[in-house]
Amino acid sequence: MPTALDSTASQAPNATVATDVAIIGAGPVGLMIANYLGLQGVRAVLIEKLEKIIDYPRAIGLDDEALRVFQAVGLADALLPHTTPDHWMRFVTSNGHCFASIEPRTDEFGWSRRNAFIQPLADRVLYEGLARFAHVEVLFGHAVESFTQDGSGVTIETADVNGARRTVRASYMVGADGGNSFVRRTLDVPFEGRTKPNQWIVVDVRNDPIGSPHVYMHCDPRRPYVSAALPHGIRRFEFMVMPGETEEELSKPENLAALIRKVVAEPDKVDYIRKRVYTHNARLASSFRVNRVLLAGDAAHIMPVWQGQGYNSGIRDASNLGWKLSMVVKGLAGDALLDSYTAERRSHARSMIHLSEVAGDIFAPTRRFGIKFRDAFVRTFNLFPAVKRYFVEMRFKPMPRYESGVVLLASTPRKHGWLARVLERSGHSAPGRLFGLMSEKRESRLGRLVYGRDPHCHSPVGRMFIQPRVRTVGGEVVRLDDVLGNRFAILGWGADPTFGLSEQARAIWERLGGVFVLAKPDTQLVFHDDVPAGVIAIGDVNTRLKDWFTRIPQSVVLLRPDRFVAGVCSPQQVSQSIVELAAKLHLEMATRANAGNAAGAASHAAAAADNGVVTFSTVAGNARTATAATAATAGA
Ligand SMILES: Cc1cc2nc3c(=O)[nH]c(=O)nc-3n(C[C@H](O)[C@H](O)[C@H](O)COP(=O)(O)OP(=O)(O)OC[C@H]3O[C@@H](n4cnc5c(N)ncnc54)[C@H](O)[C@@H]3O)c2cc1C
Repeated sequence: MPTALDSTASQAPNATVATDVAIIGAGPVGLMIANYLGLQGVRAVLIEKLEKIIDYPRAIGLDDEALRVFQAVGLADALLPHTTPDHWMRFVTSNGHCFASIEPRTDEFGWSRRNAFIQPLADRVLYEGLARFAHVEVLFGHAVESFTQDGSGVTIETADVNGARRTVRASYMVGADGGNSFVRRTLDVPFEGRTKPNQWIVVDVRNDPIGSPHVYMHCDPRRPYVSAALPHGIRRFEFMVMPGETEEELSKPENLAALIRKVVAEPDKVDYIRKRVYTHNARLASSFRVNRVLLAGDAAHIMPVWQGQGYNSGIRDASNLGWKLSMVVKGLAGDALLDSYTAERRSHARSMIHLSEVAGDIFAPTRRFGIKFRDAFVRTFNLFPAVKRYFVEMRFKPMPRYESGVVLLASTPRKHGWLARVLERSGHSAPGRLFGLMSEKRESRLGRLVYGRDPHCHSPVGRMFIQPRVRTVGGEVVRLDDVLGNRFAILGWGADPTFGLSEQARAIWERLGGVFVLAKPDTQLVFHDDVPAGVIAIGDVNTRLKDWFTRIPQSVVLLRPDRFVAGVCSPQQVSQSIVELAAKLHLEMATRANAGNAAGAASHAAAAADNGVVTFSTVAGNARTATAATAATAGA
């Protein structure tokens, strides 16, 4: 483990530590945000109350989106040895008959869609990743006891186990301090939702006594249980604590042995790692931002584990927040950009809570009627190949789709019909939750029936862009993001996306540090005359990019650093789209007056401002700036 990270030794106990971002909690979410900020050159202090990162087993399911974020921070290769790709989820009856299996075999985002992993090992990869950054410090053994915020920052008071106090002063603070978040409670942000009455006893063992791959959800009405193969010969069992049972009783060695005997003939020959009791909650913070304090991960949302989305949702938060925070603290974007974090992340976290609850309803219904409903439902869907595919291919998984925030979509207020209102009211019943989840796909028939026609439902804007393999001009075949980097990118299909670009748009793009990419059929990559300097050419090795552009009328896509589609346009609309994007970002353009403040301020942009091309005002943190740009373009 890196020791250089722990700055406690190097600082006097009562010294005030000054930083750009203070992150509370060195769980996966805090660690991921720290890695992202570290890569962007942003100073961060990670404050953790424990002496080291949590080492007991927790999450076991990692999705393709989360793996893509590990890739973004340069840690996917270190993580992969601790994962099992293509980890299917099988639902079986009490006599072992598999009645449903979730086994998506696609890799649209560049990685296997379902992966088993071991959380402490992944968290350690994230922690060790921080050793790359001298400007990121970790304060272990420091509990945050209080904080106050003012117009320019947050002052945080910590105490170590001996009562020694330390003050950290940061421009922004992220509360990634878990489900019982001190930060969220101090802010008095409501944590809406419910705690499910049932508990689960979670047992991890080494030297897997069963060995068969994948995860099995045994829908045994007497006691539902889970048996999951994990990397490195580890197996996870989870048994439902039935009504009337207590954690204390069940944890007694003889009772635990009786539980394990359900699945293993000789419980005394089992190599136990640890057992814990876990209560399933479904809760969502009413806002993920209060001025200079942001909430992320379990501090913002907690959900039952059935779809393994607690960890993954937190990693999505980190990816969404990381690039925005880094733009704001570098003075590139106005503080209003951070409002888009709640707007973009909260509704998807809610969808994931619904998904996790529905999976729990299917797996372990709490009522006899629920079991009957589930069995009838499953028998029926197995008769219809299209419905079966919907489940097998995991099409039910709500993918993030941003309708507002940093996306170039016209806002179209829609009225929810009576069916939506009925579903909202029946959301606390299992069928209500299931149909609610299915209708969340607005492009589906059910979605249209419930929510009315959504003009953007087929638009790729606000969705994650695909990640195919591409060929570089050097001949190497790599994943797309490895070419794009953690930057804004404009990717044009077949033709130079910079042709006819206005000076203003070019200045904005330079200020953003964005790249231009020309994607071609792989056969044409050797021909360079159509690739201007400063444009990266890539070959579409398996035609997935062409297929993607075939589905939309435009041929240029604007990508955000988190690989979400900010907009699509035709080649002649690139300049206008860049200016509109700058407005959404609350972009601060440097002029002579403040060029010195903004880290690495683009002299090009200042020059453009002198020419009267860039019409942004320069009041730091002021959302007016970007709006001015749009108005200027509209009037141009
Ligand atoms: C048994 C179990 C099984 C799970 N299974 C899955 C699964 O299969 N898939 C899945 O996706 N998720 C699963 N989860 C959930 C997953 O582990 C969490 O979603 C994830 O760890 C959340 O990460 P986080 O960084 O937000 O919070 P945490 O990992 O909880 O980290 C928060 C950190 O903040 C620190 N902290 C708290 N208060 C303070 C303070 N005042 N000052 C300083 N530090 C503080 C804590 O010590 C902790 O280290 C499971 C959880 C459990 C318990």
